[in-house]
Amino acid sequence: MVAFDDLYGGTKSMFEEVLVERLGIDIDFVDARDPGNVEEAVNPDTHLLFMETPTNPLMKLCDIRAIAEIADTYDALLAVDNTFMSPYFQKPMELGADVVVASTTKYLNGHSDSIGGVLVLDDEELYDDLAYLQQIGMGNMLSPFDAYQVLRGTRTLAARMEQHESNAQQIADWLAEHDQVTQVYYPGLEQHPQHDLAREQMNGFGGMLSFEIAGGMDAAETFLTSLDMIPLAVSLGGVESLIEHPASMTHSDVPREVREATGITDSLIRVSVGVEDVDDLIEDLQQGFQAME
Ligand SMILES: *Cc1c(COP(=O)(O)O)cnc(C)c1O
Repeated sequence: MVAFDDLYGGTKSMFEEVLVERLGIDIDFVDARDPGNVEEAVNPDTHLLFMETPTNPLMKLCDIRAIAEIADTYDALLAVDNTFMSPYFQKPMELGADVVVASTTKYLNGHSDSIGGVLVLDDEELYDDLAYLQQIGMGNMLSPFDAYQVLRGTRTLAARMEQHESNAQQIADWLAEHDQVTQVYYPGLEQHPQHDLAREQMNGFGGMLSFEIAGGMDAAETFLTSLDMIPLAVSLGGVESLIEHPASMTHSDVPREVREATGITDSLIRVSVGVEDVDDLIEDLQQGFQAME
């Protein structure tokens, strides 16, 4: 396999601990922002390319169409984790991916009250194989109640995604001008290094963003514990906004040198922007910044 080196933490540790360590599968992790790195790692024995775009929490993109062409050349499958954009903003199969992976826990369910995941594919043989492995072989069945909740969530997916994006864009624009912020990562900002690719392969920029606040761990802690409205919590994609500190929360098991080399510093803060009134969200963030002074 060849995989993006910036996958969701749980995916990366599952690949390393289960696929590599226990099942003996070879995986090359590469910086897939440059498709050339993927091309270099692929060889005739490669069966699967596994990508995610945009990634968590630094919103790095990879070019699905270019990587799908590499997969085709080597007769390998391309799977794309589309959790961050949801099918409303990005359709990897239309760009050449063979399998789409999504955590339904996030935007598809949208209400933070169900845990699940889905594989989407249109190859019947592969479908039968994966359905057998996942549901019968490994027992990964969604309960009827969870299935009902996800189905309920998908009915408002479009309306929610529009509001997530509108709020996130306004907050990103506001943060980009803020003097206590040194960097903002949001694909909808023109300054995002892959903004053009984002415009090309996505129909919107989604509700996830991250930023660096001026000051280190102490500043981050003061800021995060001063918010009234936005809870400090992991997970994402629900109607309510959530804020978190990757270095001490979602990415705390990544060694510090690795974290810092990839850009996950002590002053990085990630926001899953919800669908609330954007002025209320900005007001809450602003009083967090004031507490730092
Ligand atoms: C949360 C997440 C997952 C894992 O989903 P769970 O439903 O929490 O198991 C996988 N990929 C991405 C990008 C995620 O954000």
